[in-house]
Amino acid sequence: MQQSARIEAKTGRLIVGWDTIIIGSGFGGSVTALRLAEANMRVLVLERGPWWGPRLEGDVDAERRAYPRGAGWRSGIRNIVWAKGQKTRRVELDARGLLEFHLHPKLFGWTASGVGGGSLIYTDILMRPPKDFWKALPAEMSEEELAPYFDKFVEMMRPAPLPESKRREDARPRQMLEASEKTGEEPFFPPLSIQFDDVPEGNAAGVHQPPCIHCGECFVGCPTGAKTTLDRTYLPAAIKAGADIWEMCEVEAIASHDHGYSVHYRDRRTGQRQVEQAPRVVMAAGTFNTLALLNDAHHRHRSVEVPPALGRQFSPNGDMMAAGWRSGPQDGPPGPNYPALLTTGTENGGPLIVWGEVGSPAAFFGDGPLREWLRSTYLYFAIGQDRMHASVRTGPDGIQVQASRLHRAPYYGRSERLMHRLMEGYELDRQVENLPGGRGSAHLTSVHPMGGASIGRGPDEGVVDHRGEVFGNPGLYVADGSLYPTEPGVPPSLTIAAMAERQAELMVSRTREELPAERVAIAMPQTRPSAIDRPRAEITVRPTDLRLLTPGALERTWQSAPPAEVPQVQGRLPGSVVHLRGVDPLPLAPRKLLDRLVGALSLWRGKHIVGARGHNHFGLGGAQVRFGQFEVRAGRAWQEANRQDAKQVLVLDYDQPENPAWLRRLRGELCRLEPDLFLGRVGWRGDGGVHFLMYFGLAAPTKRRRASARPKRASEIRPLTR
Ligand SMILES: Cc1cc2nc3c(=O)[nH]c(=O)nc-3n(C[C@H](O)[C@H](O)[C@H](O)COP(=O)(O)OP(=O)(O)OC[C@H]3O[C@@H](n4cnc5c(N)ncnc54)[C@H](O)[C@@H]3O)c2cc1C
Ligand code: SF4
Repeated sequence: MQQSARIEAKTGRLIVGWDTIIIGSGFGGSVTALRLAEANMRVLVLERGPWWGPRLEGDVDAERRAYPRGAGWRSGIRNIVWAKGQKTRRVELDARGLLEFHLHPKLFGWTASGVGGGSLIYTDILMRPPKDFWKALPAEMSEEELAPYFDKFVEMMRPAPLPESKRREDARPRQMLEASEKTGEEPFFPPLSIQFDDVPEGNAAGVHQPPCIHCGECFVGCPTGAKTTLDRTYLPAAIKAGADIWEMCEVEAIASHDHGYSVHYRDRRTGQRQVEQAPRVVMAAGTFNTLALLNDAHHRHRSVEVPPALGRQFSPNGDMMAAGWRSGPQDGPPGPNYPALLTTGTENGGPLIVWGEVGSPAAFFGDGPLREWLRSTYLYFAIGQDRMHASVRTGPDGIQVQASRLHRAPYYGRSERLMHRLMEGYELDRQVENLPGGRGSAHLTSVHPMGGASIGRGPDEGVVDHRGEVFGNPGLYVADGSLYPTEPGVPPSLTIAAMAERQAELMVSRTREELPAERVAIAMPQTRPSAIDRPRAEITVRPTDLRLLTPGALERTWQSAPPAEVPQVQGRLPGSVVHLRGVDPLPLAPRKLLDRLVGALSLWRGKHIVGARGHNHFGLGGAQVRFGQFEVRAGRAWQEANRQDAKQVLVLDYDQPENPAWLRRLRGELCRLEPDLFLGRVGWRGDGGVHFLMYFGLAAPTKRRRASARPKRASEIRPLTR
């Protein structure tokens, strides 16, 4: 992780902090990251999942996961969000898992987690939406206006239809052609973002992709790398352009403040909760997760005021799924997923419906009988313009999607009949239609959730404007599937990405001068900035959060903080080591690592103070040991002892008769950062005065902390000087 500092060319000021933080690295997030980084902005992408492949070619440090991605249930499924009854629950199986399932009363949704987002598991189809899609969008957006942005994404991903020579050679397209001949349909071959030929000079991002071997396992990854995903295109290009991508960092809350936004996240590798800030935040966590984050910010943490249209205009993009089984081996290689499609609607009248056979995710189940059985499984999928305009229930207990087939029964009835006809052509032994509920059931499956934070002409109509900026929240953007007021009715990734290309261009062209002065990236503060009144995010600052500050920032924070007082520190105070002397000359990354390592390994658990006497607690597992008595009194900070204006501190004096001789030479000092938080330092009395040893953090006494009326936020410790 790099330091987020740079010199602003125009003013020569040192700018510390990010210009933009992007939440999620799927289609919206990756495109935005590259374009803003290319415009020389300091961009941070926070992605909750891992890298599944090499970050950059030749990058040996990157995590390399074995193919197939996510094989096996446990490592395959990251978590299940279960929104039944009044509360939304979340069960996590493996923070590194690939898939996320969303169970809503009548909708089963399915998304991906990992650097590259949905591109890791998509079936590679990149299609443009039909003409009538544009009617629902504001006047600023039209098919003609968006055309160059569609082209930009296509230039990077280079999609191409399945080569003619393979259409009868590969089993899947051949079966589709035979089945549709029986039913009198004419399939077409959509553009697939797959590298079919060997291109020695690499793809548009210069990354080498071997050619497709037609193995049919695109669903759960690709054994060769022929599938063109975002972690092989936009994201390596964004890294080369200077963007930082922090994987395994899951955003938990966002909060608005005077200078922009705080993004609170949990580093899933260390378990630590941390915070980053920027004048601009782009929410690209995918429809379900962006809606959940916005909902929590508004209803739970009350940290961002989101327009009342949040949750309106949701659509499953007309998705419907069915499965069939036919015994006997397939003749020839299966070929890519979803190679040939059928369409009806729009020109023939009625909404667009696109359907076909997808191919089963057999590789997901590793090797074994289940995988073999799945190889003879046929999965069918329909997508279309359902015009559902369903709602998502919002509130402090989480979101719940209220969509069901009954909202648009005629559309789904037609879609089911079309799929049924195609399945007849396959002459299956057994089939289940409209998964998971069965034929006619109100339940739906969707892998293309759209809307809920939709574009509108004003805050009564939508959540964001045509630039993707949340009404009433300058600098807060949405750039993913959630911003569409209507569904495209085709696989939506190309549309999401094209919109993100447009948004990024508008962000770049909106010069820094146009932004209100106080929202321009924050210059290094000379003193600790004042706390903000809003929001009331229920995130409590812990002593370990102080490790976000560099030694320089800790020193400034120490100098500007008032002294702690004896009555404030009565009782048990949990603590942790924040920074050690001697690691300062090291570069930032090893320095932080060492500080964290020492903090994590340290057996010191905190202090216990009663009246004017105190002692330290050390512990391992459940065992606790007291060691090191000290006296507590008001006094002057050590390095200023000879000065008239020496800083007042609370002195922790270890020069007590019960301590061993070496311990009596220690001296502690304590300042108060917040009612709940103290910053301390320890020095060694030696020749020529006291020598600094370390900074430590202490939390307020446990009972008082729990009873605290107003919870504190990590944002109040500003990590501007990482
Ligand atoms: C099986 C399957 C096949 C598909 N096939 C196609 C296809 O062929 N063509 C097509 O166009 N579309 C396809 N899709 C749909 C496509 O994947 C999605 O429409 C698309 O990925 C949505 O893009 P997005 O930018 O909205 O979000 P996503 O691509 O979902 O990206 C969101 C990212 O945000 C991350 N994230 C979420 N929450 C947090 C958080 N709190 N903190 C940090 N990071 C977070 C996620 O891990 C993820 O990486 C398919 C989907 C599935 C499931
Ligand atoms: S068919 Fe196989 S090789 Fe080709 S893109 Fe799909 S998974 Fe990769």
